[in-house]
Formats: sequence, C-alpha cells, structure tokens
Amino acid sequence: MQRRSIAVRGIVQGVGFRPFVYGLASRFSLTGFVRNDPLGVLIEVEGQVAELERFEAELVGSPPSHSTIDGYVTAALPVRGDAGFRIEVSDSGAGHARVDVRVSPDLATCDACLAELFDPSNRRFQYPFITCTACGPRLTIVTGVPYDRQRTTMAVFPMCEACQREYDNPGDRRFHAEPIACAACGPRVRLLDRDGAPMPGEPFARLTAALRGGGIAAVKGLGGYHLACDATNETVVSELRRRKHRDEKPFAVMFESTEAAAAACRIDTAERELLAASSRPIVLLPRRASPGPLAPAEGVAPGCPNLGVMLPSTPLHHLLMREMGRPLVMTSGNRSHEPIAYQDADALTRLAPIADVFLTHDREIRVRCDDGVTRAARGRELPVRRSRGQAPRPVRLPFPCAEPVLAVGGQLKNTFALGRGRDGFVSHHIGDLDELSAYRAFCRDIDLYERLLAIEPRVIVHDLHPGYGSTRYAVERAAAAGLTTMAVQHHHAHVASCMAEHGLSEPVIGVAFDGTGYGEDGTVWGGEFLVGDARSVHRAAHLRPVALPGGDQAVREPWRMALAHLLDAGLSPAAIEQRVGKDCVRTVMRMIERGVNTPRTSSAGRLFDAIAAIAGVRDHVSFEGQAAMQLEWLAGEVDADRGYPHHLEPEGDRLTIDTRPIITEACRDAGLGRSPATIARRFHVALADVVESVCVRLRERTGIGAVVLSGGVFLNVILTLDCEARLSRAGFRVFGHRMVPPGDGGVSLGQLAVAAGGITRS
Ligand code: ZN
Ligand code: ZN
Ligand code: FE
Repeated sequence: MQRRSIAVRGIVQGVGFRPFVYGLASRFSLTGFVRNDPLGVLIEVEGQVAELERFEAELVGSPPSHSTIDGYVTAALPVRGDAGFRIEVSDSGAGHARVDVRVSPDLATCDACLAELFDPSNRRFQYPFITCTACGPRLTIVTGVPYDRQRTTMAVFPMCEACQREYDNPGDRRFHAEPIACAACGPRVRLLDRDGAPMPGEPFARLTAALRGGGIAAVKGLGGYHLACDATNETVVSELRRRKHRDEKPFAVMFESTEAAAAACRIDTAERELLAASSRPIVLLPRRASPGPLAPAEGVAPGCPNLGVMLPSTPLHHLLMREMGRPLVMTSGNRSHEPIAYQDADALTRLAPIADVFLTHDREIRVRCDDGVTRAARGRELPVRRSRGQAPRPVRLPFPCAEPVLAVGGQLKNTFALGRGRDGFVSHHIGDLDELSAYRAFCRDIDLYERLLAIEPRVIVHDLHPGYGSTRYAVERAAAAGLTTMAVQHHHAHVASCMAEHGLSEPVIGVAFDGTGYGEDGTVWGGEFLVGDARSVHRAAHLRPVALPGGDQAVREPWRMALAHLLDAGLSPAAIEQRVGKDCVRTVMRMIERGVNTPRTSSAGRLFDAIAAIAGVRDHVSFEGQAAMQLEWLAGEVDADRGYPHHLEPEGDRLTIDTRPIITEACRDAGLGRSPATIARRFHVALADVVESVCVRLRERTGIGAVVLSGGVFLNVILTLDCEARLSRAGFRVFGHRMVPPGDGGVSLGQLAVAAGGITRS
C-alpha cells in the first residue's frame, strides 16, 4: 500500500477533469480525493503500487478531450486509510502565495447534450442552456478562480433537486459540471421588442416567424450579441447593411449543419474539422458556382468568392437554426467599428436602431468575446482572428518570462497578451483602439485577465508607435505604478510572434509584409526583411519607399498609392486622372512634391493598393485590406504565366527592392487592356519572386536557412502557399502562422516573445 499526491497543472478546470479522476480512481480501487486548487488540480490517491502506477499512466496518457496537462508533480505521503474516493470542494486560494490556474475557453455543445436537446423524453428537451462537463460556457461566464459555480455568472441560479442529483452523482456525465441547469432552475430566454417589452408566445417560433418575414433580430450568444437575418433574403440583407452602417464587408452566415453549408460552399476535410472545432469559428469557404436552393444572397458577401460560415455553438443557436430551416446572417452585434454588445441594457440601447426583436436571456456574459475567424490553406489552418473558444488557451513561449509581462499589442485588430513563465496568454480580439468604446474594453479586459489568470505584470511591452492607444496605456500605467516598459518595433513583433508559435529561438530571416507599422527611422514600414532573433533584428531589406500621400487617407483611397508609385516610376498618371479627376490628382501631386502630410512608406499592403488602382479594380476602399483581398480573389481566377520583374539594389549592408519595374509592367498590361485578373496574378508571382530572391541573397550573406512569414499580407493564401513552396524548394525551412493571426492580432504575442527573450538574456 502507498499514498501519493499528484498536483496537475494546465487546462484542468471546467473540462470534466475531477469526474474523470474519480472514475479512474474507482476503476483502480484507489481511495483518497481530488479537488481544484489555485494551482490546478490536486489528487491524493492510496492503493496498491501497481494500481497507482496504472492510474498515473492513464491520468497523464489519456486525459479528458478538452484538457491540457502542462506538468504534474508527484510526492509520496504516509498511508491514511481513507474509506473511499471523494471530490472535495475547492480551496479558494487563501494563503497561497501564487495562483496559477487555467480558465478553459468556451466549448461548443457536445453530441451527447445535442441528442438530449432534441429528445422529447429528456427532461432538458429544447432547453437552450443544456451543458455538461464537456461543453458549455467557460471564460465568458467566469468571475474568479478557482473555477466553480459560485465564481461564474451561474451563481445566481440555485440548482433544483434533479440537477443537484446529477451534479453529485459520480456516475453521471454532469457530475460536477459547474454551469448545469434545467428549465426548472436555470436561465430562461425572453423575446423582447425593440422597446424592451416582452413579446408573448413561444420565443423561438415567434422569432423565426419574424426572421422569415424579413425582420432583423439581435440574438444573445456566448460572448455577445449577434445581429441575425434571413441570409437568403436579399432585401433584408441590404437593410441590415444600411442599419449597421456597413458598406461591403462580408457578413458571416450560420448554417444548421456542415451538410447544409456544403450546399452553398465547397468544404474539404481540414475545413470540416475547423467548422466543427469546439471554438466554432467563422471559417472562410469557397462559394459554389451554382449553389443549392437555400443559398445565401449575393449581398451577404458582395463580389466575394468566399463565404464566412459557422455552425451553431450553443443549444440556443441549435434550436434557432432547427426552427429556421435556412441559413441566417450572424454578424457581430454592433454598429460598424464599435465593439460587440454583450450587456443586456447596452445591447437594447445600442442595437434598438438596428434590431426589430431581441432574443435574450438572464445568464450574464462576463467576458465579451467576438467570433473567431479562420481559414484553411491546403489542409492547414491560417487564423484570421483568434477569439471566442480559443482565448485564453496559452501559446508556449520559446523563452520563459523572467518576470510577469503584459504586452499591449498594436492599434488595429488589437489583442493583448499576458506572459508568465513559458505561457503566453493571448486575449480574444479587442478591436480597433481608435474607437473609444474599444479602448475602454481594452482597459477593462486587461484588468479582468490579470485577475482571472492572477498575473501582476512587472513589465509592460508596447509598440514603437507613440500615438497608439495601447502605447499610451502602457506608458501611463507604467509611470503610475512604477513598472518597466519596453518598446518593440511593429514588424519585429510580427516576426517574433511567428517564431514564438514554432518555438524558434535561433536567428531567422523574417519576412514581414503588412499595411503599416512605425519604423525605427520614423518612416512607415510594411515590406520588411528582418534578420535576427526574438531579441533583436537587423533591417536587411525592404521595399523601395514611396510617398504615402495623406497618411490614413491614402489607406482609404488606393488611387493615391497608385499615383505615388506612378510618379516614383516616372510614369504618366493619365489613367488615374481620367477616373478621379485632374484636380484631385493635381492636389495630391502637389502634396507629394512638397512632402505635406506625406510620410515615406515601404509598405507591401500599400503596394497591393497601388496595383489594385492601376489594374482598375478599385480607387476607394471601405476597410483596410479590401483592395488586397480583391486582388487575391482575382488572382485565383487565372493560372500563373509569369511575374513582373524587380531589381535588388544594395545600399550599405541593406538591400532595397526596386518596385519600379513591377509598376511599369503592370501599367503596360493595363494599357494593353489585359484583365485585372491577369495583372493581379502576375503581381502575386512578382511578390513571391521578391520573397524568394531576397531570402536567397540574405542566406548567402548570413548563412541563415530559416524563414518566417508574418504580417497581414500573409493572410493571402495564394501568396503564402507560393512563397512557402518556392522557399522549401530552395532549401529553406519555412514557418507560417498556425495559431495566431499573421495580422496585427498576433502582435501582442510577438511583443511578449521579444520581452521574454530580452529579459532572460540581458
Ligand atoms: Zn455536453
Ligand atoms: Zn434544474
Ligand atoms: Fe502589422
């Protein structure tokens, strides 16, 4: 006989770990106890040595599906002779110097709960909040740690006798499932009109009647409100755009099942897996040329060959979709550029001008979380937005943080990250910090994560850009609290984020292509080759800088970038003049000549904009990256024949990539009347040529054979796959993003990795 304590760390709370341990202990006839504690899960088991060994092997070998064991420590204890095995109530953490526990992300409804949801003989038949140890809300309802019903927003719903029996029964799959409830004791849905008055009748039947009649609904989900309408109804889709102030950006669509989605989109194996993941992200899928009958209207994603598709993530959504029987637009519950509404009173106020009806309920959302967005590139994931169902699952850092670190991220598509040891906890998507309400959410959610993860940062890392809201937050907070700050150049952070994902600590060639980032020389960078490691990099090559006439206005008006590049290449702007007018062109030319409000930029994203305008695709955009997205779609329509040429010009220990030949040839093609698709494709080939030739040159100089591809431009699947294939053929080890987005949503992780590398080694 022996007694042993096993302390397990990782994502082990809120994922059915204790019931699993209970079952295991019973199987091996062991006595003792298991409980959640502030460090994770603590187990004490007593029994025959052979049985203890088998218990331990199975415990770490096949833990519950949504758990992650990061480490465990065992110790021998004196035998106590317990009567049986029990689950003990949690230790609240009093007296513990350090709290280190994982909060699980939210989990989509599991198959067992789904079967019960639609089983008329089950006592939870059609109950919209059915959950168990393997599914349901987690992060979004947590108010403190350790994870326990009292420390969630379910605390206000005392369990009825029947629920309590399941909760207490070790043989039940709801044994110690914290958010369980039923119609007798749990949260209830309500259907409200736009004035907040309750509407009579069965909520789902009333709601779907309203939706079928062309109404717009606000629907409370896991991490916030969605705006929903009949995706097959062109009229209501354009009405939703009008009310939401959203021009052309595609809407996401929810289908009842993968099969239903397959009628509208082509779905491969990897995409099927992404759709069904427990995080239930929006997956970008290619639309079918001739879709089935209940296909989404064209206006859902105008001109876009892809559709953002998601499956129901909660029982409420399953009930809604089953009742509806056709796809619904499910877009974030906000006006354009504002954060998603998640509090009931706020939703009723802010969404009243948009929604005709509200499907709401009385389970409070504590943490606002948007839908994640992802896509697959030849069988592997390429994340676009990491959010609900993924945060706060940590990424393992290549170096441990010597001190707790907060990385505040960038300005647009902001996320922040907290680092402790080798764990990098990247937040859900916060949004664009230009917007005051997003900035408020940023401050509030940092505070919340610090409490949930019990991390008190000693170091705050921020972008080099002095004007970012995140930078100001970092500087002000550090000054007030006496913390250390560290500035990390934007593209260094991009490169480091990709290195962190792959655990790379050796020097790499980092290709960082994006829209804009503040450079070390004060100009606007964005077409960079950085050589170095997480600690420091050298700007080894970059695209030839051109004018960025009007700063942010040049981002909204790609024709300005075309003009800048045309003038740089000594070409005539006649075609642009014809479209936007001689006066506009003359004004901007004067700005460029005099350098008024015209920084220099080496941005790859702006080069996409210039090509889009030169090819006649578009002169104006309603969101950043729109022109580049369209070029990618067009490029997908034709096969690659050839690219446009470029020159590499050495300048000291640095290469400048002369883009003038690219512009000249693209102009010639446009003048010859070649299709925008051909120009787009040749431009994609040209950029891949640039990446390959520069990497080869840099390898000759440095001997470095590893390349990481980062920055928002690498959301472009055609470019990414082409670069990866060519670099691999050329003998490089190539690394792209799999876990965090290549775009600015990944910057916080990169900042964390730079801080961890710097602090450890300095
Ligand atoms: Zn379940
Ligand atoms: Zn109940
Ligand atoms: Fe960026």
